[in-house]
Amino acid sequence: MSSVIAFVGLGHMGGPMAANLVKAGHRVIGYDLVDDSLAAAAAAGVERAASAAGAAKDADVVITMLPAGRHVLALYQDQGLLAAARPGTLFVDCSTIDVADARAAHEAAVAAGHRALDAPVSGGVMGAEAATLTFMAGGGEAEFAEAEPLLSAMGKKAVHCGSAGAGQAAKICNNMILGISMIAVSEAFVLGESLGLSHQALFDVASTASGQCWALTVNCPVPGPVPGSPAGRDYRPGFAAPLMAKDLGLAANAIREGGVDAALGLSAAALYEAFAEGPGAEQDFSGIVRAIRERSVRPADQTGTPA
Ligand code: NAD
Repeated sequence: MSSVIAFVGLGHMGGPMAANLVKAGHRVIGYDLVDDSLAAAAAAGVERAASAAGAAKDADVVITMLPAGRHVLALYQDQGLLAAARPGTLFVDCSTIDVADARAAHEAAVAAGHRALDAPVSGGVMGAEAATLTFMAGGGEAEFAEAEPLLSAMGKKAVHCGSAGAGQAAKICNNMILGISMIAVSEAFVLGESLGLSHQALFDVASTASGQCWALTVNCPVPGPVPGSPAGRDYRPGFAAPLMAKDLGLAANAIREGGVDAALGLSAAALYEAFAEGPGAEQDFSGIVRAIRERSVRPADQTGTPA
């Protein structure tokens, strides 16, 4: 069944996602603060609205894809998105935001007489373009069932993770595993280098032994063992380090708020924050191996002999 969808936030992710909803036969009314993004979406068949509230007023479903929680909450409340929509509209927020902000957004939508789902994604811009994203959803069963056909038009898999905020919780827990494991794999390669072990030998062992993980076998941080990993193209993303830093920052907030003893999660957040603010600003998150190597003191350095 075709729906009328308001889509607010037509950036790197939202633009292609909205275009895939048009391809699936839905009427999509879009809005973005940036005119170029709005124009690109219009070229893909999205109707232009003059404001977010204008996009939402005739919609069955309002989808947002925004940078952070403060943008979602400001849009919902101060900028009148909730007030503009018809009672009972389904609000689906696909942005990656704090779990606490996702719950606050959900409560605000319900208090305004609407229904809500948090549905962040994994899969990146390529996944958004190819409609192969994975959605992690939080909210009621009925809301998930109603949103599922739309999520299927934009992705290949949608998992209902639980009540409000559970989608965001799944996203940051998964990305915390990924961030920690990328640092672990990178440290192991740099340790191997200092021990005279070749990258290929370590890869051949660890990829078929208990060190096996996605950070090693798909996104291998050193060039050679996995053709096609970002290491082989000078660490062009891929999954950019600033996005990993953002997601680990959200995980760190939740760790502190929940009083969880997650020392590695907090360390990974601090290491990625420093990397993303420095040399990693434009690199894939696997480029952190270079920062680890550069910070490492080789035995020759310790004895004062030039390395
Ligand atoms: P982006 O910056 O390209 O797009 C965000 C868009 O929101 C921008 O075009 C901006 O103009 C618009 N916007 C901000 N405030 C607005 C407002 N009040 N009204 C209308 N438009 C507004 O970011 P992106 O890469 O598309 O990421 C969007 C979300 O998806 C983020 O939460 C990000 O963490 C998450 N995400 C991104 C990726 C990725 O690979 N880029 C992967 C997974 C998840």
